[in-house]
Amino acid sequence: MGDSYRFNIGDFQCVALNDGNIIGNAAMLFANAPQEELRQVLQHYDLKPDHLPSTWTCLLVETPTNVVLVDTGLGTGGEYGGQLLPLLQEEGFQPQDIDTVILTHAHADHIGGCVDKVGRLTFPEATHYMWQDEWGFWTTETTLKKVPEWAATIARQKLPPLAKQLKTVNSESEIVPGIWAIAAPGHTVGHMAVEVESRGEYLLDMVDATLHPIQIEYPEWYAQLDQFPEQTVVTRQAMYQRAMEKNALVLAFHFPPFPSLGHILNQAGRWKWKPLQG
Ligand SMILES: [Zn+2]
Repeated sequence: MGDSYRFNIGDFQCVALNDGNIIGNAAMLFANAPQEELRQVLQHYDLKPDHLPSTWTCLLVETPTNVVLVDTGLGTGGEYGGQLLPLLQEEGFQPQDIDTVILTHAHADHIGGCVDKVGRLTFPEATHYMWQDEWGFWTTETTLKKVPEWAATIARQKLPPLAKQLKTVNSESEIVPGIWAIAAPGHTVGHMAVEVESRGEYLLDMVDATLHPIQIEYPEWYAQLDQFPEQTVVTRQAMYQRAMEKNALVLAFHFPPFPSLGHILNQAGRWKWKPLQG
């Protein structure tokens, strides 16, 4: 499988796009996991604690009315990532073809590609969407002082140029026909998930509500980067329940291997991740 993966949800054409990859570690991903239990679980899955692959999987959805991009990757010019634009072009999409950009939250791997180094919008024709609390948090100096400097710097560079082409949402709402913003707070204050529905088929992009497949089985194991850990755990279970009830295909931005797609099952009271066979 290459770095882009096409699939359909009802009448909608979707493309998963692999902006980049990175290697994470267990201490970052499972900050509160009991050490011995974590060791056994990693061993069971044949994973090394200091070598946990993580993907960056953006999503394009072409509907009869819109061309929608969910997240913009890390942007070009860095050591990692930045594959989104060339992949879009390979798939036949120019930046100006995108009419809607949904920014699920303001971390670098999601907003990095929305603006270039001199502040020009990468997708100049697009209306950009972000959850209202998220936009407020990451564009206000008093709150930016509470986050690590690298994260604040990215937000200061990338978000203000979007203001003229930005709409915020503050409740579950339909952004364009068939594509919904879903509240999924915890990873950040206004982190959102995205649900796609066409002809009774569903895709739930839960983005960073869950960072690793092991957290499907162990939803209480939060990550260092989860800003509000308890809320993250509640949100995860709501996502899993929602996906199961709708028999939704699930996309999780960081789940290896690309295309980060699968289904969530409940077996004897435990959640299970069933990756899509590519
Ligand atoms: Zn992320």
